[in-house]
Amino acid sequence: MPIELVGCTLEEIESALAPLGEPRYRALQIARWIYQRRVAHFNEMTDLSQQLRERLEEAATLMRLRMAARSDAPNDLTTKFLLDLPDGLAIETVLMGFDDGRRSVCVSTQVGCGMGCTFCATGMAGLVRNLTAGEIVDQVLLVRSETDERITHVVFMGMGEPLANYDATLRAARLLNAPYGPNIGMRHMTISTVGLVPQIRRLAEERLQLTLAVSLHAPDDELRSQLVPVNRRWPLAELLAATRDYADATGRRVTFEYVLMHGVNDRDDQARQLAVLLSGSGAHVNVIPWNPVHGLQYARPPVHAVHRFAALVRRGGVSATVRLDRGVDIQAACGQLQRIRAAGVLA
Ligand code: SAH
Ligand code: SF4
Repeated sequence: MPIELVGCTLEEIESALAPLGEPRYRALQIARWIYQRRVAHFNEMTDLSQQLRERLEEAATLMRLRMAARSDAPNDLTTKFLLDLPDGLAIETVLMGFDDGRRSVCVSTQVGCGMGCTFCATGMAGLVRNLTAGEIVDQVLLVRSETDERITHVVFMGMGEPLANYDATLRAARLLNAPYGPNIGMRHMTISTVGLVPQIRRLAEERLQLTLAVSLHAPDDELRSQLVPVNRRWPLAELLAATRDYADATGRRVTFEYVLMHGVNDRDDQARQLAVLLSGSGAHVNVIPWNPVHGLQYARPPVHAVHRFAALVRRGGVSATVRLDRGVDIQAACGQLQRIRAAGVLA
């Protein structure tokens, strides 16, 4: 069986080359072709001998995602990509540009998601499969080559639950951080999780500088268990203890995401309760108005209610900001991914 090199570390490429009798420094050349220049064929690796390129052709493969569609938002610097995987399934990846020059790619880690949050489009069809590390990394490489943008940040916030695909997610973060790859700083990468406590603890032990974002959405267990079913397995007290330990172990401030749904979790007393829950933890709250998903009955609160909620959290002593909508008009906003193809809306 030929070995798939996209997703391999430099050391693994070195091991793959050993039987071919090649010196180790060749591996570095090849890794750069793979992760910096995103070549799709060994014959494009022009600083390798013709003979080596032919032998690599037999011994190894280069998996690349294929862009099936792209849509650019009319009102902000957001571009959504529909990407075909080698097995015919599809995922979505979003590029977000900011006025200060940041360019952030929001990557998917799974096809679908098995966590069943009641307000999320991705969860509606369940989990289809995990992505490989190569498939996660190649989303960033593809966006970079399609747009010629220098990617400064990566957020693991697209389709899927990153910590339910732990090994591939961590491998992808390390490859994106590698000097022979895009070399994106760990502090410029954020992993968003629904709250899988054992994996948060495991991540803390890796002692990386990754930013952790935890999707909270409710200030009490009863409501959170309704919205986020995994809360029944790891309730708030356990989740918050794990995030505190993550912050202690890494020195990194944890972010909590709170998607506001009108009449569900946006009352004043819920904002105050949230502040009580998080005060003293040094955490930051991102308040995100719920983005409409076809077939789901939640309502988006009015803008003033969103700002009021964040203000009440701040008054309770916890830092909080409103995350502005991006890409809503192209269905590229949080929680809107993957319903598009079924609806046939993607341009
Ligand atoms: N599975 C991970 C990461 C992907 S979801 C997680 O749940 O954190 C990324 C973020 O989008 C999460 O905070 C999630 O709660 C939020 N989200 C899901 N559906 C949404 C919607 N319809 N509107 C706004 N945010 C949504
Ligand atoms: Fe999965 Fe995150 Fe959507 Fe929940 S919010 S169903 S964990 S993708």
